[in-house]
Amino acid sequence: MKRKVRSVNLELRTGGLALGVLLLAMGGVAFAEPSGDRPDMRHAWSVHDVNRPDPVKVTADEGKPPSDAIVLFDGTAESVAKNWCDKKGEPTKWKMEDGKFVCVPSSGPACTREKFADCQLHIEWMTPTGDDPGYGNSGVLLHDGAYEIQILDSYAIKPSQSPWKPANYADGQAGAVYGQNPCLVNPARKPGVWQSYDIVFHPPVWEGERLVDPGSFTVFFNGVLVQDHWPLEGTTTWCRRTKKWTRQKEGRLCLQDHGNPVPFRNIWIRRIPSRFANTTNGGPGVKAADVAELRHELAAQSLKFADAAKDPAEKYIRLWESFCYEPSSAVRKRIVPVEAECVKAVKSGALKDGEHRGALQRFVDMLVLGGWMEKGSELEKALK
Ligand code: MG
Repeated sequence: MKRKVRSVNLELRTGGLALGVLLLAMGGVAFAEPSGDRPDMRHAWSVHDVNRPDPVKVTADEGKPPSDAIVLFDGTAESVAKNWCDKKGEPTKWKMEDGKFVCVPSSGPACTREKFADCQLHIEWMTPTGDDPGYGNSGVLLHDGAYEIQILDSYAIKPSQSPWKPANYADGQAGAVYGQNPCLVNPARKPGVWQSYDIVFHPPVWEGERLVDPGSFTVFFNGVLVQDHWPLEGTTTWCRRTKKWTRQKEGRLCLQDHGNPVPFRNIWIRRIPSRFANTTNGGPGVKAADVAELRHELAAQSLKFADAAKDPAEKYIRLWESFCYEPSSAVRKRIVPVEAECVKAVKSGALKDGEHRGALQRFVDMLVLGGWMEKGSELEKALK
């Protein structure tokens, strides 16, 4: 039976800083699985590298916020008092009504006490029924109100082009990045029916005076994708293309008071990493120096395993691992006699069939596949 053992678990690094190396030697013997394309200038890890850290486990039960979410409103007055305030930090005047968090017109926006940078947000809302001249205008405002995803009754949009119904313009309908980008499609429901947004927001990224990334919105409206990683064209506002982006890394989430008693429920948010935080595995934030540094650390850890290994097959694998992370002539020289030991062990039967021999076989196959080792070596022949 194939045994899956992790030999090294390296903590993820963020912002180019190594957070540390955590060794988890498990089960005494730890063999690597074959891995694919090798590390390079943009990737510290090879493809399918078993030394790569696993994602953090999150519980995601149906109908509930994920276990790592911050629940901002759960239908209780306690969640309002704890998480929401007005723009000045004073208690919000918005009211609780039958488990709903309802906008009180002219009281100003409701804002979170906490600030957020990159985030995933879930929020449910409803436009009022009856004769509402404001079409249930509200909005989800990120970064202290700088960027709005519109909330509006957009169910009965008519192509009348009536000048008396300005709320009908496409870039101001529900789900629009206000004034910038209309929805891809219109999945709006009727007034009086609950609707949902699932929003992924990335704020602008600056390096000094250089705007590295303008930030973006991805929005699912009632489960339908309506904003597909839309790059922000500046802060959102009425009638203008501002071409100005916020500078702060974090900002409060606010719900707009546009004069309409719009109710909300089930609001939760997750902090997510910036796409620029990972500097060692491809992506927009990759930095060659960080990749080289992590590869150096990985190579050193593999060498430690090699030094501690009693079994020639394990020593061989660990040395090659080290060489793959950071090629060096010193390590390559060390591989030669260990390879001869492995050949002897395989031929003599000292390295028994099973997981050790199997792991060595797979590893040699990977080396040949990856171009590290020429086909037809003594070891490869002995293993066949
Ligand atoms: Mg609005």
